[in-house]
Amino acid sequence: FEYGSTTRKVVRNRNRLTNVLTDSGWKSADAFVMALGSYSAQFMRKLGRPIPVYPVKGYSITVPITNAEAAPVSTVMDETYKVAITRLGDRIRVGGTAEISGYDLRLHESRRRTLEHSVVDLFPGGGDLKAASFWCGLRPMTPDGPPLVGLSEVANLYLNTGHGTLGWTMACGSAKVLADIMSNRVPEINARDLSPERYLKPI
Ligand SMILES: Cc1cc2nc3c(=O)[nH]c(=O)nc-3n(C[C@H](O)[C@H](O)[C@H](O)COP(=O)(O)OP(=O)(O)OC[C@H]3O[C@@H](n4cnc5c(N)ncnc54)[C@H](O)[C@@H]3O)c2cc1C
Repeated sequence: FEYGSTTRKVVRNRNRLTNVLTDSGWKSADAFVMALGSYSAQFMRKLGRPIPVYPVKGYSITVPITNAEAAPVSTVMDETYKVAITRLGDRIRVGGTAEISGYDLRLHESRRRTLEHSVVDLFPGGGDLKAASFWCGLRPMTPDGPPLVGLSEVANLYLNTGHGTLGWTMACGSAKVLADIMSNRVPEINARDLSPERYLKPI
């Protein structure tokens, strides 16, 4: 693994990827996996093989618990605002919103206020909001929901992207399915519905 290294360029020759330029230089390989979340779409567009993966921005606050009795013990959904409130050890994680604003990662205070409102409304006095951290991320969404796991339109380029709201949950399973596909093993689950090919078929 090369942590903290950025992929700068990908080179295609006919219908195969040949080289990738990272911060540590050019790499070549028999096969490549694109697992860049929402950013996969940008690279695939540059390769002339666009995929239907779109960034949908979400926000969370993580609040240190000050009174365990007043904090949630499990996950609760505030259906009014579509906000999920979860206990994470000695913290409360409050997450939600689906904002369509491209790759913009600015943190908007109005979103924070919505998350704060939900947790104060349902668990008053549970945590210290002033000490909370505020975060946003991009969910790589596909139009039909499931991710794209399998061979792309480029002969030696595989996709493991488009996991939307469930990327952490599906991370290990998706990696296992893709490793099986790349090794010519039959995956333990039926992976046909995850194949990028489903978007190439005429309706
Ligand atoms: C508020 C919120 C709450 C969520 N809660 C949950 C949850 O409870 N459970 C769950 O399962 N999922 C949850 N998700 C969804 C989850 O975050 C995503 O599905 C998951 O992060 C997708 O993983 P990924 O690795 O495909 O993409 P990402 O996490 O987006 O990772 C892509 C990585 O590629 C890197 N990258 C981009 N360009 C380059 C480049 N040129 N070179 C090198 N690296 C590059 C980026 O820096 C990034 O680290 C939540 C999302 C949000 C926004």
